[in-house]
Amino acid sequence: MVFSDPVIGTSQCTINESIHYVGIGLHSGHKVSMNLHPAPPNSGICFVRNDVEPDQALIKASWRNVVDTTLCTVLGNDHGVTISTVEHLLDALRGCGVDNLLIETSSDEIPILDGSSAPIVNLIKKAGVISQRVSRYGIWIDSPIEVRQGERYSILKPSPVPRITVEIDFPNAAIGSQSVTVDLLDDVFETEIASARTFGFANELEQLREQGLALGGSMRNAVLLDDDGVVNPEGLRFADEFARHKILDCIGDLALADAPIFGHLHSHKPGHRLNNALLRELFAHKDAWTRLSFDEINRRIARSENSFVTQVKKWAWAGR
Ligand SMILES: [Zn+2]
Repeated sequence: MVFSDPVIGTSQCTINESIHYVGIGLHSGHKVSMNLHPAPPNSGICFVRNDVEPDQALIKASWRNVVDTTLCTVLGNDHGVTISTVEHLLDALRGCGVDNLLIETSSDEIPILDGSSAPIVNLIKKAGVISQRVSRYGIWIDSPIEVRQGERYSILKPSPVPRITVEIDFPNAAIGSQSVTVDLLDDVFETEIASARTFGFANELEQLREQGLALGGSMRNAVLLDDDGVVNPEGLRFADEFARHKILDCIGDLALADAPIFGHLHSHKPGHRLNNALLRELFAHKDAWTRLSFDEINRRIARSENSFVTQVKKWAWAGR
């Protein structure tokens, strides 16, 4: 990582060299080959499916292109070509401050790896994140945006610090009620969130497999729960790993916004559908936010009442 670059944080970033890895799709069970390549400024995150016709292969990572949120976040293009389970990879990219990237994939599902985004974060750190010397922009929340789906809700509120609060409540005794708030500053993303794994329930796993889903699912890529609690012999990485993984999913899904969001996300029982609905609501209300350069965001943070705290810290978004 380029820790000493004075313009990193206010400039767009990509990776220093291409990254190759192979993994298994959680639902398809297929082996997937991945190549992550540096991409030019202002190109954003783009997926290219190598197993379809080249003129139909490009899928832009955008909230506008979300076509399904049932079990994971699925993106699609006008040709009906899709790429699924993008949220953990997008989480790693946002957490590492990667704005522009071309992602080649050999199949329709991003590999699940260990069920968290830590393996990708480690690959990105190894490759390095570099400044592209072109201004980076953020979305500054000016007034609250709220969406509700039954008992679930999400609110984006003004806050100079990127902050996420997640509350979950599951009948399983190993989870129960959990609430976690994180300020995504310094290395909090990497140390507190990136390694939190996805989770599933043994009884649901059997049902999913009967439907031809979760075929790649195992205790190597998820925390498995039954009525007695956590089945994985290694146990949990955090006592509240479940809520932390929901934060990870929120970061990944909100990375589909047009730029990093500066606000406080408060989400009660979040899910991929709720996360996408929040972005659609946000971009339908242009009076609720302002697109600002990171230089201007720096100035606003310096003026805010807790400037002493925030000035000496660095957002997880900035890429370090
Ligand atoms: Zn997830």
